[in-house]
Amino acid sequence: MKIFNCHTHTGFSHDGKGSIDEICESAVNNGLIGFAVTDHLDCEYSDDEAMIRNIASSFEASEKAKNAYNGKLIISSGVEIGEAIYAPEFAKSIISSFDWDVILGSVHAVRKKNYDMPFSVIDFSLWNEEMINEYISQYFKDMLETVRSCDFDVLTHLTVVLRYIKYKYSKPADITSFYPIITEILRHIIASDKTLEVNSSGFADGYLMPDIEILRLYKTLGGRRLTVGSDSHIPFDIANGLRDTVNILKAEGFEKLTYYIKRTPVEYEI
Ligand SMILES: [Zn+2]
Ligand SMILES: [Zn+2]
Repeated sequence: MKIFNCHTHTGFSHDGKGSIDEICESAVNNGLIGFAVTDHLDCEYSDDEAMIRNIASSFEASEKAKNAYNGKLIISSGVEIGEAIYAPEFAKSIISSFDWDVILGSVHAVRKKNYDMPFSVIDFSLWNEEMINEYISQYFKDMLETVRSCDFDVLTHLTVVLRYIKYKYSKPADITSFYPIITEILRHIIASDKTLEVNSSGFADGYLMPDIEILRLYKTLGGRRLTVGSDSHIPFDIANGLRDTVNILKAEGFEKLTYYIKRTPVEYEI
């Protein structure tokens, strides 16, 4: 089975560990055909000079690894841009400053009054159903705006907000009522020739991002292009959940997956 992991983090991400060399070794040991280095650039911290330096170092390191692992691994130099709608000019300037292979578009925080910090640090334990629904609604609105107005190739971990609300804080979170806006997001990805990511980082905990129902909806709407990503933050985790995820996608009738080189999609049979 061929697998290209289109979403990984290194020690150049604030929450990542490990060098690109260690990730390359792990990728080879796990039989991947390649991977994209996609360290974090969170636009709400656009004045964080260390983050900007780290992104430059990440790009440089992955370009070097391309030579070092030539013939063994396909390496794609990328970046995961979070909250681009907060600082669109900043996002554009980072995109144009490097010869990227792939840009991931992400939402890790939403524009909700008093709760605009990343949702990974919010304590949802005392939130009632109405507050939870408002928050999820804002997540999808921000995602739709990101899809409509920002430059990226792959939409990452759609529904990641549920990782915290549903899986960390065990809040009942039924997203059925958000299907109209989810449909709009998916339609826009398809029409603008972008790609939807299937993120396997929650696989061990029993969920995919997005879930099978949303992947089926994507297919029904005409969506064919998918990447898979483990969203690993340490080298050892690079292949976590990927094989099972690809098997699920095969069973759902997806025959090809995608990676990006010079921001151009490359399809491969799975
Ligand atoms: Zn992310
Ligand atoms: Zn990530």
